Amino acid sequence: MITPVMPTYGGADLGIERGEGVYLIGKEGKRYLDFAAGIAVNSLGHCHPKLVAALTEQVNTLWHTSNMYRIPGQERLAQRLVDATFADTVFFTNSGVEAMECSIKMARKFHAANGAPERFRIITFEGAFHGRSLAMIAAGGQDKYLDGFGPKVKGFDQIPFGDLEALKAAINDETAGILLEPVQGEGGIKPFANDFLRSVRALCDDNGLLLILDEVQCGVGRTGKLFAHEWAAIAPDIMAIAKGIGSGFPMGACLATEEAAVGMVKGTHGSTFGGNPLAMAVGNAVLDVVLEPGFLDHVNDISKRLRQQLAMLADEHSDVIEEIRGEGLMIGIKLKTPNLEMLQSLREGGLMTVAAGDNVIRLLPPLIIDETHIAEAIEKLSAACSDIEAQAAKD
Ligand SMILES: *Cc1c(COP(=O)(O)O)cnc(C)c1O
Repeated sequence: MITPVMPTYGGADLGIERGEGVYLIGKEGKRYLDFAAGIAVNSLGHCHPKLVAALTEQVNTLWHTSNMYRIPGQERLAQRLVDATFADTVFFTNSGVEAMECSIKMARKFHAANGAPERFRIITFEGAFHGRSLAMIAAGGQDKYLDGFGPKVKGFDQIPFGDLEALKAAINDETAGILLEPVQGEGGIKPFANDFLRSVRALCDDNGLLLILDEVQCGVGRTGKLFAHEWAAIAPDIMAIAKGIGSGFPMGACLATEEAAVGMVKGTHGSTFGGNPLAMAVGNAVLDVVLEPGFLDHVNDISKRLRQQLAMLADEHSDVIEEIRGEGLMIGIKLKTPNLEMLQSLREGGLMTVAAGDNVIRLLPPLIIDETHIAEAIEKLSAACSDIEAQAAKD
């Protein structure tokens, strides 16, 4: 018999009752160190007092008005995102996939508005993940997400990860833009090289293409810069964000330059809930914390320490760990043993992580972790590696 909650998730039989900072608390008070943070969602951990205060105040003031009226929190958050980034304008959504849909619609509209409606194709990279709408499963190009859902939405051309020659060869008269995650998340924490990103930017400039970045997972301080593309000193034309900007409140945004958004005039796009006052109150409060002087320095310092310790762990357990990779607090542990077994063993030991493609375990802790959390995580990772080694010795 089908479960009342549609059984599309392979969830663990585990109920979480509360969240406190970097910890989740399950039934019978079992504590889990949360190095999953949703999936890079709870950027400031659980029940951060500033977010609780901002949301509580908004809850007692106004929940929702339509986008037919001005929403002050939206205007404020948009202005702050514009001030902090390459962007001139922002469209608010409820999720990552909607921010991506807006990005692709905008890129197509840009060329249509410039007299080239035949330019609608977007080049994407193997290993990509851009969400689960019909168009975004086509953009991601993964069979496991496309299978059974009818004809693949037209207009997405996929090439091998980081292959510049293939990228050049894929550009044609119908190409509208190039889409990538500066650090692939679901694909297994794969950062594009900075040189490669600069070459992609140059190719876009030379060919009149839009560079669209999906920073839904790697954005909002996760890599130690406000946005991951800043490490390569490039700017996109369009960028989708979501996860970390709400720290657990559902929201997303599509940021763009004035030029890229030229076609997005009155009536071309919309959302009932996008930019809702509750979401805006939280988004503004998240930015208050992330933009505080020193916050990103903390992310960089703490992530260096974590990665040093992980490098030692990888040396000690070279039968289990193949490689540590990633940027900032977006870290992938590529394993030699099955990642789902490791995930389960860690969870039983009280450490939450996330699996990813390429047999990787992702560490995506809240950006507010300190040394004690690192020590605890390393101890639990080490114990899980030892367990797996002991098991292998027995078999
Ligand atoms: C999670 C994710 C999405 C989709 O976001 P949803 O909020 O689940 O729709 C898109 N792109 C990337 C890189 C993601 O990590």
